[in-house]
Amino acid sequence: MAINQGMKGYELLHDARLNKGTAFTETERRAYGLEGLLPPAVLPIELQVARRHDEIANLHDDLQKYLVLSDLQARNETLYYAVLMSDPATYMPLVYTPTVGEACQKFGHIFRGPRGIYLPITARGRLKELLSNWPEKDVRFIVVTDGERILGLGDLGAGGMGIPIGKLALYTACSGVPPRLCLPVVLDVGTNNHNLLEDPLYLGLRQHRVRGGEYFGFVDEFVEAVQALYPKCCIQWEDFANINAVPILARYRGKICTFNDDIQGTAGVALAGILAALRISKSKLAEQRFLFLGGGSAATGIAQLISQSMALEGMNIGEARSRNALFDINGLLVKARTDLAEFQKPFAIEHVPTTSFAEAVRALRPTGIIGVSTVPKLFNQQVIEAMAEINERPMIFPFSNPTSRSECTAEEAYRWSDGRAIFASGSPFPPVNIGGRRFVPGQGNNVYIFPAMGMAVLATEATRVTDEMFIVAAKAVAQQVTEEHLAAGLIYPPQSQILKASLHVAGCVATYIFDKGLARVPLPTDIGAFIRARAYHPVYSE
Ligand code: NAD
Repeated sequence: MAINQGMKGYELLHDARLNKGTAFTETERRAYGLEGLLPPAVLPIELQVARRHDEIANLHDDLQKYLVLSDLQARNETLYYAVLMSDPATYMPLVYTPTVGEACQKFGHIFRGPRGIYLPITARGRLKELLSNWPEKDVRFIVVTDGERILGLGDLGAGGMGIPIGKLALYTACSGVPPRLCLPVVLDVGTNNHNLLEDPLYLGLRQHRVRGGEYFGFVDEFVEAVQALYPKCCIQWEDFANINAVPILARYRGKICTFNDDIQGTAGVALAGILAALRISKSKLAEQRFLFLGGGSAATGIAQLISQSMALEGMNIGEARSRNALFDINGLLVKARTDLAEFQKPFAIEHVPTTSFAEAVRALRPTGIIGVSTVPKLFNQQVIEAMAEINERPMIFPFSNPTSRSECTAEEAYRWSDGRAIFASGSPFPPVNIGGRRFVPGQGNNVYIFPAMGMAVLATEATRVTDEMFIVAAKAVAQQVTEEHLAAGLIYPPQSQILKASLHVAGCVATYIFDKGLARVPLPTDIGAFIRARAYHPVYSE
């Protein structure tokens, strides 16, 4: 097929997938009726990328940068990915967290044009029909949200669409999942956010959230429609409130190819950070104790994966779980509590109740604290000093997003621990100078895990995504942290190397998928080469 796929002239310039803008050659311009529609100069993609770098660098507001990038995505997809992939460390925070949080909050006010599929609950019974309106017929990846718990920002209703869009852009930019195989979806069941319901520019259904049987029936219909239309598609659940996230994952994980990144991806990246941190403290996973601030999807997901990893090292699973204590809005999760949800109960410990996190730290003597509470500042001086008193190298991981919700800043963690903290946060912090020493904080960004998982699943056409696949991914990420990085306190590979890192992780996960008989394609002779051959590269077709 010719590169213009039958399109000509103005129409071709307005097709984001085929458009090359000023990079159309003179021959192409003549052949496709583009002469006169573009200024005469023909620019190579490198110069187009440089032009966008300049434009974006000169903007002073991150949301404006987000919008420039999103307009570029709608205009010239290849160039959009060439820009992102040319400097992932700069662009990831602009197309995803933390900037995407503000974009979701203001979704109705900055809305540009269609991207993805909106499935309102009012269309029940017709979801397959709505999904069929998507132009691509081979969809391999859906990221779907119902917008109820967007990052740490709460219920943003249909504005949550920014999350699947941003996340899928990272699947492509970080591990080369081809963009045409990806579909962002919002399940719009209403919103309980009064500000949105009263905002004339709000774009979702103007009703309160539907709950219970009707809600789960709607989700069932969605899954069935996806299965019918795209049998090789993996569904990734994103930013659902934990009351729905946990049962949805439990319902489908054994039946279809699916995972929840907030639960499993977060767990994978946290475990990766811990495994690298243990290389600094020269200790074993089985010797650690963790205390989580938060007892929701992320906390229970991470606690479960750490426990499974400890169990793989020979520890009894019950004992492993007891080394991962949780502390939520009502205090330490102890067996005596009567308000615990089913998914929290496995982590309730035999202990006196306490509602003071600092007291829980002193009592349980954790080697690491992990913040997934959505509440800023709760890793206060008292807590961090207590951690530094108990441990030579305390692990301090404030993972709540966006930056405004982080349980502490990098500077606080380093200052209050006399520079001994092994630190990683959910949202990025700049390097810190204290007492003549420079600390480079790591970011426990799920991006080290989910794009690689996506690539492995895509290449192998995996039938399931299992927890063990996240343990394999975590180990593969941790392996790539060099001694030099560890010496600087970094426990994740540099984001500038994310594509290389992800393809390595994808290769390790794919090997596991083949070993466990979960692949739907024949075993290739060289799995690494097989993965690399599937990866998308942002180059114009000739
Ligand atoms: P969630 O709503 O399921 O859970 C939040 C938990 O925090 C609940 O258990 C709640 O009781 C607890 N909590 C609230 N206020 C508290 C307080 N004052 N003291 C103690 N506990 C309190 O949310 P989630 O999906 O678990 O996500 C939590 C946070 O983790 C979000 O900010 C999210 O952005 C972040 N997160 C980060 C990453 C990452 O950086 N890799 C990945 C996933 C989630």
